[in-house]
Amino acid sequence: AFAIELEGLTKVYAGSRRMLPKRALEGVDLKIPRGSFFALLGPNGAGKSTLINILAGLVVKTSGTAHVFGVDIDAHPRRARRVIGVVPQELNLDAFFTPREALEMQAGLYGIPPAERRTDEILAAVGLSDKADAYARSLSGGMRRRLLVAKALVHRPPVVILDEPTAGVDVELRRSLWAYMQELNREGVTVVLTTHYLEEAEQLCDWIAIIDKGHVVACDRKEQLLRQL
Ligand code: ADP
Ligand code: ADP
Repeated sequence: AFAIELEGLTKVYAGSRRMLPKRALEGVDLKIPRGSFFALLGPNGAGKSTLINILAGLVVKTSGTAHVFGVDIDAHPRRARRVIGVVPQELNLDAFFTPREALEMQAGLYGIPPAERRTDEILAAVGLSDKADAYARSLSGGMRRRLLVAKALVHRPPVVILDEPTAGVDVELRRSLWAYMQELNREGVTVVLTTHYLEEAEQLCDWIAIIDKGHVVACDRKEQLLRQL
């Protein structure tokens, strides 16, 4: 009963004339329990984004296997995308679309019929009701991040993966994002986030994996893990 299972996951970025090949992940074995609130904790350069981007289907792994809710993400990418919602770190949004349009498009991509869309509900949940019809240029960084979270939730995935969701976010928004992620988790959604703040992992999560130089160096329930530090 794992939400995510990685075995021997390895990523080597190819070198170029100017750059040596880089081993970003090295034989990572990781089991993320269903229903957990899971932190991937590690310093910059540890390999966290690489791991997330492989799960998101954005980066091709060099070797190893990755299953999400039992679905092999290489063999069944379409099935995989139904069970996973990814919130990337970059604030990439389409400039000429409003939050409402962005969510409607996302729902369309997932084949959700208009009658079953929950656009207003999701906008309200992330505090964007007032900006539902505003263009991206008038959304602050915090609002853009909340829209990315909303987009990842449109198809009600049982696993949500967030890459440094509170990086560069002010204290107030951080608290509201934390509360929202906790609410999702209480509803049964497995929430996985990457962070380089021990404090964030400690306050929010019930499981922590520490990743360093491409290796998972520890992984346990929070209480057990903090006792080892
Ligand atoms: P983190 O998210 O923990 O900061 P990353 O997964 O972004 O770590 O990076 C892991 C290592 O892989 C770093 O040394 C980084 O410089 C390198 N890396 C990341 N992306 C690329 C890429 N596209 N090409 C080459 N090296 C990369
Ligand atoms: P910033 O947003 O630039 O990190 P803040 O003023 O919001 O700065 O952060 C206040 C303090 O909280 C800083 O000492 C910072 O290191 C720490 N901090 C920032 N982000 C997080 C986070 N996600 N989890 C825990 N502590 C954080």
